[in-house]
Amino acid sequence: MAFIDEVKLYITAGRGGDGVVRWLHEKGKEYGGPSGGDGGKGGDVYATVLRDIGILTRYRSIKELRAHRGGDGMKNKMHGKAGEDLILEFPIGSLISNLNTGKKYDLLKEGDRVLLLKGGAGGMGNEHFKASTNIRPKQFTEGKEGENADFLVELQLIADAGLVGLPNAGKSSLLNALTNATAKVGSYQFTTLEPNLGDLYGFILADIPGLIEGASEGRGLGHKFLKHIRRTSTLLHCISLENEDISKVYQTIRDELSKFDLELSKKKEIIILTKTDLIDEKTLAKRIDEAEKLNPSVLSVSIYDDASLKNLTDELTKILKTTK
Ligand code: GDP
Ligand code: MG
Repeated sequence: MAFIDEVKLYITAGRGGDGVVRWLHEKGKEYGGPSGGDGGKGGDVYATVLRDIGILTRYRSIKELRAHRGGDGMKNKMHGKAGEDLILEFPIGSLISNLNTGKKYDLLKEGDRVLLLKGGAGGMGNEHFKASTNIRPKQFTEGKEGENADFLVELQLIADAGLVGLPNAGKSSLLNALTNATAKVGSYQFTTLEPNLGDLYGFILADIPGLIEGASEGRGLGHKFLKHIRRTSTLLHCISLENEDISKVYQTIRDELSKFDLELSKKKEIIILTKTDLIDEKTLAKRIDEAEKLNPSVLSVSIYDDASLKNLTDELTKILKTTK
């Protein structure tokens, strides 16, 4: 199933029911007083939060949603029924924007519930207009339209750590080797078309598609997915040891991150030098030294070396425990 991380919806709250004109029917009297009841209120629209990142797909082919209309008023001064509320479920981490008002709702906690749109008020029945100067009112009012707006719902994954790095850095391979994930691995650029998630002893790692120079300006795929790591506490900055100039590769990604969102560049970062199997120990020691000048937290790994994978797992779980 394709991972849907953005939907647009046009949503309308329920219209209020109309007020009505009715007369009391009393024995022996041809016309009694006014007795038309008010219309019921239209249904409101709420968003609620579920811990299920897949449920956004539910809205894939839906473009319009509306809450129920309020019932019209009735005889004997009876009010119309309130329209049923529309309660929409969204995954935890959804950011809902009302595109008409600009208001944003951040759904961060399971069970949260926010009011998105108010239903219209019910109209007034003729009973309402009774006055000493108006004993046989024929006036009534119609129900009001419910609020409506276009909404954009964006899913921002809440992962504990996000893997960033150039295409081919080995991010997907590492995610698969460290967790239960089955991210696609390929030697060509942009293997990853959707963010992959993996569970490392209770910590969620997110694999973000390759960043390239200019990704923060919308070139490349990275841009679309960078927002998924906005909320992670830690960035795992992967650099392949195929690169001889570690510092240059590092700086490319750092520039992208800060261009996209300055907050991203302030996150805790760990450098992971990947593909240690491709170089000899002496060169590895040299590269680690170079990396430590950029950032003191440096780890190294090869997916073909179980001991290095185990070491990385231990170190990462230790670090992530302190940030959770
Ligand atoms: P991503 O673009 O950063 O997700 O990188 P991938 O995980 O798709 O890996 C890119 C290429 O590097 C693939 O051909 C992998 O098989 C290869 N690769 C990944 N990790 C290692 C490693 O530890 N050693 C070696 N020799 N190759 C690796
Ligand atoms: Mg990948």
